Amino acid sequence: MATITQTTDSLNCIGGDWRTGHSSETLDVFNPATAEVLAKVTLAEASDVDAAVSAAAAAFPAWRRTPPQNRIGFLFKFRTLLEEHAEEIARLTTQENGKTFAESRAELQRGIENVEVACGIPTLMQGYNLEDIASGLDEIMIRQPLGVTAAITPFNFPSMIPLWFLPYAIACGNTFILKPSERVPLTARLLVDLLHQTGLPKGVVNLIVGGKPVVDALLRHPGIRAISFVGSTPVAKYIYAEGSAHGKRVQCQGGAKNYVVVMPDADLEMSAKIVNDSAFGCAGQRCLAVSAAITVGDAAKPFTDAISGIASSLKVGNGLSEGVQMGPVISPASKARIEGLIGKGLNQGGRAVLDGRNPKIDGGEKGAFLKPTILADLAPDNDLTTTEIFGPVLAMQTVKDLDSAIEVLSRSAFGNQASIFTASGSNARKFRYEAPCGNIGVNIGVAAPMAYFPFSGWKDSFLGVMHGQGRDGVEFYTDKKVVVERWPKEWSRKF
Ligand code: NAD
Repeated sequence: MATITQTTDSLNCIGGDWRTGHSSETLDVFNPATAEVLAKVTLAEASDVDAAVSAAAAAFPAWRRTPPQNRIGFLFKFRTLLEEHAEEIARLTTQENGKTFAESRAELQRGIENVEVACGIPTLMQGYNLEDIASGLDEIMIRQPLGVTAAITPFNFPSMIPLWFLPYAIACGNTFILKPSERVPLTARLLVDLLHQTGLPKGVVNLIVGGKPVVDALLRHPGIRAISFVGSTPVAKYIYAEGSAHGKRVQCQGGAKNYVVVMPDADLEMSAKIVNDSAFGCAGQRCLAVSAAITVGDAAKPFTDAISGIASSLKVGNGLSEGVQMGPVISPASKARIEGLIGKGLNQGGRAVLDGRNPKIDGGEKGAFLKPTILADLAPDNDLTTTEIFGPVLAMQTVKDLDSAIEVLSRSAFGNQASIFTASGSNARKFRYEAPCGNIGVNIGVAAPMAYFPFSGWKDSFLGVMHGQGRDGVEFYTDKKVVVERWPKEWSRKF
């Protein structure tokens, strides 16, 4: 499959065949930097989900009997193809998502690392055993695949997030249905196409492009054993409740409000540079983007001066253009929502250090552009200090000490990431120990866990038990079977 054309429509891969969806609803996939339509998509509906589940169920018996060593053979080939097509994948991601080419390439790299970790499945999937649990009795624990599994993913990491789940699911012997964000289905199509170029048996991986009706059909389908989800918290709560009510194992990674605490003893210039990258990289549309900065004591003025200097000079534009450091947000609707939130924060008493609304971008008149925005002096109850903005906006407040900063974090509904910038080991340790968050950064802006660690959100940022990636991924995609054996000598037949 080569380049994307404006008439591209066969985005569903069912049993290895590319098919058009059967919904009466269509959707334009467009480039948020130019408003150019990249593809006109007829969305899938419940009957397409039925077909995908049938294909995945039919593929399961042979796939689970394929030795793990042979299953990962396809993933090794897939990894090679991802490297060979990295530029094409990254360009496509930039076109449909808006982030810069370098950001698209970097997210793909994180995805590739998950494929690499899943290639360790012959070791990772091993169980354990004990001889002589009683005289002559042995006990073993075996991990077995679940069956048909599915993942529902968001718009902000079109290549990486599907790869948080797909490689582990199939390496463990499951078959899999990917339902990417309907706003960015083209990267997913390319990934699934490359996967099939490895010779992967048909039906092991299927792709369905649709919206809520497709999600509901997946959640309620009796043929699906497990659902992985990444997206906003309200949808995560719905998916967790509905999927569980239909007897499925569910893991849901939700939204975020990530705080960074800047201590006066930190290297404030370096901290400002790193926090700038975290707040405004990917136009603030990372689930680990720092979007609220808490300066402690005297750090406020020098840190604010330093970060506003860096942020104001960021080059904003089309992510495929040379030198551009920040692309657009995902859509005009998202831009309008973020601008509304900025206005609200100002009305509630915030001070605009940088106001990125209505920017003038050369050649970007039709794009969903904002420039970096920094609002200071926000009260703890200002909407901007508590709401997920998911755009290039940094909300700042000042507190007197580290205890007060941790208190702010403790009041947050979210627990995806919290970072501290400090030169003090004792401040760092206290923060690591007390901050109520699943991913902690110490002098780190985006504390993204590597593929062999769990992506560990807490509170409203995660619903479930096992997180995505690494060993948690293997636990999630397998059932444990425990066998107790007795083989008395006198029962043995003589041959
Ligand atoms: P979203 O919740 O709107 O959509 C995510 C997925 O759910 C999509 O596939 C979409 O089609 C589907 N969906 C949307 N509304 C639905 C509904 N009402 N019923 C059923 N399905 C529905 O999220 P998004 O805008 O694509 O992504 C941004 C969000 O994802 C942010 O909140 C961000 O913090 C979060 N996110 C979290 C993580 C994490 O690891 N915790 C990672 C990336 C993104």
